[in-house]
Amino acid sequence: MASGKARVPVIEGWFTTDEDRPQLLGSRCRSCGARFFPKTGACRNPECGRGEIEEVALSRTGRVWSFTDNRYQPPPPYVASDPFEPYAIAAVELADERMVVLGQLVPGTDVAALGVGAEMELALGTLYEDDEREYLVWKWRPTGA
Ligand SMILES: [Zn+2]
Repeated sequence: MASGKARVPVIEGWFTTDEDRPQLLGSRCRSCGARFFPKTGACRNPECGRGEIEEVALSRTGRVWSFTDNRYQPPPPYVASDPFEPYAIAAVELADERMVVLGQLVPGTDVAALGVGAEMELALGTLYEDDEREYLVWKWRPTGA
């Protein structure tokens, strides 16, 4: 963590990089209120399809909908740490939006203690790094952990 490297988002514009309270950035239709993540350029609600889109910060918390422990290195284009470190992934249903957002769990999360419905909050973590930079991505952390 305290490497002195620049910490930059792995994808620009998908989430804020506030270390304490990061938020996913989605879009909201001004006409029907539907929210999307990742952001869309137009409303994808088939019963609307015309609304103006605005950027909106999404809920920082949600509940586990499903999760898994990944012990095998995914194929490219996934950029894995070297050596590969197993990680867990959770699909979390956002508190307000009720949409499900996948993310890695922060390192050290006790997956065996996790269950469907567990409360989670958004955190920032390193996806990978090179000589100059740490590339940040959103991760899920059990609330209060
Ligand atoms: Zn709409």
